[in-house]
Order: sequence, then structure tokens, then C-alpha cells
Amino acid sequence: MDKGILVVISGFSGAGKGTVIKKLLSESDDYWLSVSMTTRAPRPGEEDGKDYFFVTHEKFEQTIAENGLIEYAQFAGNYYGTPKAAVEQKINEGKNVILEIEIQGARNIRKLYPESVLVFITPPTADELERRLKGRGTETEEKIAARLSRAFEESEGIDEYDYIVVNDDLDKCVRDVLDTIDTAKRQPFRNEGFIDSLIKGLEKYHK
Ligand code: 5GP
Repeated sequence: MDKGILVVISGFSGAGKGTVIKKLLSESDDYWLSVSMTTRAPRPGEEDGKDYFFVTHEKFEQTIAENGLIEYAQFAGNYYGTPKAAVEQKINEGKNVILEIEIQGARNIRKLYPESVLVFITPPTADELERRLKGRGTETEEKIAARLSRAFEESEGIDEYDYIVVNDDLDKCVRDVLDTIDTAKRQPFRNEGFIDSLIKGLEKYHK
């Protein structure tokens, strides 16, 4: 069985990437979404073990020390990290594993897994980003300002991603992300095993 690939999906907080990923998962069984560990408090409606594993600072640092995370980063004053065991298991089972993480994490994943695909989802404009963040109604003005400021910082790293997808229309955005991943999977460097055996198979015809 072929192994799955790692798909990093980043985007400004408020870009709607959570909604895009949810829809994508409902449309295809080939994908699995990694549940991150975080020290931030749950938002209303968020469930432990489903949206995140919500833990204390102590527990997070203990998990780092035990080498239990593939990557981790600090964002808006909290730790966020990707648990290692589940991701490796799903990849081995042939699932494409989605990591919904920010740019420092994306950079680390690129280094550790060069064949991973990095996708950045963005609203069409900066004004639209502000509108969506305010519309969510779950955060204070101060937190929204911090997230917008962070968005500016993250915008400088966008060119490190393989693909940028604009989230204007949800269905189109999901289609674009799936097309993007399909295209990425066909890139020669992600198919070395396949190419080697094809060349070996053709060798016998060579005169
Ligand atoms: P939020 O607090 O809005 O759920 O997430 C804040 C940011 O942390 C988002 O950009 C999200 O993608 C990122 N994030 C969530 N989980 C992880 C993780 O495991 N690792 C890293 N590096 N970033 C994460």
C-alpha cells in the first residue's frame, strides 16, 4: 500500500481554513486531520480531543521533552504542536494527513518531510479578513488586533508555500485544494519509487 503524504494547510486566523478542511474531509476518505495539542483555552463549542487536545503548560513541555511532537510553535502567547504517533500511523495506513498549522510549523515540516505539500489559504483581501475575524464574535478587540498584526507577519512568508488558494467561494476553494494536492502528488520528486520501477521495466526494451 502507498503511504499517504503530509499536507500542511496554513492561512491567516479567520481565513476560513477550518471550514474548508471540514468540507474536504466530508468529501473524501483519503484524508485525515491531525488534532493538535495547545495550551490555549477552548473557545465556546470546542471539544477536547476533537478540535484540540487542551493541556496545561506543564503537560505541553513534558510532551516536548518526551519527543512526542513532530513540531511545535508559539502563537499569540500559547503553545501549539503536532502529536507524532497518530500522524505517523495514519501516513503508514495510506491516509493523506492534514496539518492545520502556522508558518513556523510549516517550515519545520518542510525540513523534516521534504515531500510534504504546503498550501496557504487566504481571503481575497485584508478588509475581508478583518470582517471575518470580527464576525466570529468569539474574541476581544485586543485579541483580534493581535491576530491581524500576526497576519501581516505571516504574509511575508506566503511565498514559501507551494500553493496559494483564495477562499472566496467555499466549494470552489475545496475543489482547488483537492486539485492542488492531486497535482502535487504527481510531481517527479514525490514519485521516485514509481519512476525507478518504470525505468527498470523499460530497460528490457532498450536496444
Ligand atoms: P487558533 O487559536 O486560531 O485555533 O490557532 C492559531 C494558529 O495556530 C493557527 O494559525 C493554527 O493553524 C495554528 N496551529 C494549530 N495547531 C498547530 C500546531 O500543532 N502546530 C503549529 N505550529 N501551529 C498550529
